[in-house]
Amino acid sequence: MVTESFIKELAKILGRENVLSARKDLLAYSYDSTPERGIPEVIVFPHNTAQVSAVMKAIHREKIPVVPRGAGTNLSGGTVPTCGGVVLELSRMNRILEIDTANRRAIVEPGLVNLDLQNALAPLGFVFPPDPASQKSSTLGGNVGENAGGPHCLKYGVTSKYVCGIEVVLADGEIVELGGNVEDIPGYDLRALLIGAEGILGIATKLVLNIVPLPKTSWILLAVFETLDGASQAVSDIISSGIVPGALELMDKTSCWVIEQSISAGYPTDAEGVLLIELEGLGDSLNRQAKDISEICRKNKMRELRLAKTTAEKTILWQGRRGFFGAVARLCPQYVVMDGTVPRNKMVPTLRQIGKIAEQYKVTIANVAHAGDGNLHPLILFDVNNEQEKKAAHEAGKVILKTCLDMGGTLTGEHGIGLEKLGSMKTMFHPADLAAMHHVKSIFDPDSILNPGKLLPAEEDNSHHERKEIPV
Ligand SMILES: Cc1cc2nc3c(=O)[nH]c(=O)nc-3n(C[C@H](O)[C@H](O)[C@H](O)COP(=O)(O)OP(=O)(O)OC[C@H]3O[C@@H](n4cnc5c(N)ncnc54)[C@H](O)[C@@H]3O)c2cc1C
Repeated sequence: MVTESFIKELAKILGRENVLSARKDLLAYSYDSTPERGIPEVIVFPHNTAQVSAVMKAIHREKIPVVPRGAGTNLSGGTVPTCGGVVLELSRMNRILEIDTANRRAIVEPGLVNLDLQNALAPLGFVFPPDPASQKSSTLGGNVGENAGGPHCLKYGVTSKYVCGIEVVLADGEIVELGGNVEDIPGYDLRALLIGAEGILGIATKLVLNIVPLPKTSWILLAVFETLDGASQAVSDIISSGIVPGALELMDKTSCWVIEQSISAGYPTDAEGVLLIELEGLGDSLNRQAKDISEICRKNKMRELRLAKTTAEKTILWQGRRGFFGAVARLCPQYVVMDGTVPRNKMVPTLRQIGKIAEQYKVTIANVAHAGDGNLHPLILFDVNNEQEKKAAHEAGKVILKTCLDMGGTLTGEHGIGLEKLGSMKTMFHPADLAAMHHVKSIFDPDSILNPGKLLPAEEDNSHHERKEIPV
């Protein structure tokens, strides 16, 4: 329980202007990008590692729950303060500390927005490959917390591949460094444990990131298909042919329609499936890749292939895909988005099954996918004021995740478990696996104060913090 004297203590550490506890401020931090809700008791904005450490020492002493937060764009309820307590927002720790192109490293604070790093790297001819569609607002600390992916992670790999070292403040306020500035540090790779840990093991306060040179040239192919089966089979065929495009994204008819209502990116609204394929390389190799891909797509009932070579043509196509979630929100502010990943050769049966689930539960589902990775994002739309629709959307979501598991896939490719997929963790993992995960949590955070109730399902959780149902 946060008392007035505790708030005063936080204000002494951080300055009054960096501590918020007015009702309107608490409401502003009661949600993230999901329909989940929970109200905090105080929000703090540290500016440096020493302040994070001092705040954590006070929190640890009082055994108060704390939710680390970047921009709150996660799609799994990971930053909803369901147990009340403190929201520790890292957005003021947003400096680039060093860019070292010779060693291909960037050292940054966790509150730095992903796109701000990309904008600093591009003039130097470099890029940080993980590029979530939320990159205009999501922070690198949040990207690490969720092990974020993005369209270019098909070729380059997700966030975990690009984090070399992490400075972490532990639950008791101790500051430790995991990994470092060079690869191949001997001993246990504890750095890897923190990536995708959703803020339940420690708070990242500094990140040593790998950066790579920007590709010299890129083209985009927009392949338009008569059937969704054709588009998804083409994905599998492209990858099995040995071609690894820079990005390979899929959108169904509903998604293209939604995008066109908002962004007018030039996607067809009458085709059942569309692939956005980015090719990287130099002249001859680009021609060859485009020819091979075109042949594969034609065999899968492609009706049209467009080629974008200029920056303007490429930008508008990417704006359409990256703007999809925002475009949906304009039409239907509430949706649940699934994030299951299936083996690429199971995309056709999985998408067919998702179509049947939509019919069965009488819900509208729009599908986009980081298809090259088999990472599906079915968006299930619902009216938040219609209890029956809301229930149907959540039920349909669970069945979709079960389908992904049955196809040999996983619950999440990049959005994390948070609150939304807690129940499904028991479907995916054996009780012994979950017990082992709780054991690791208890070593880092014996009092379960760090983001309690997230990632690991509650029954095995020895947390003393109850979920607080507070009317918002
Ligand atoms: C429109 C839209 C598009 C999206 N597209 C993608 C996409 O293409 N790919 C993708 O992967 N995701 C995507 N997302 C989801 C989301 O943007 C990512 O999960 C992102 O990584 C979250 O960053 P954030 O700064 O908002 O983190 P938050 O939501 O604030 O936090 C995410 C998790 O990380 C923890 N955390 C935050 N900061 C720290 C820290 N410093 N130390 C330890 N833990 C921390 C939090 O406790 C929480 O569990 C999208 C979201 C939206 C709204």
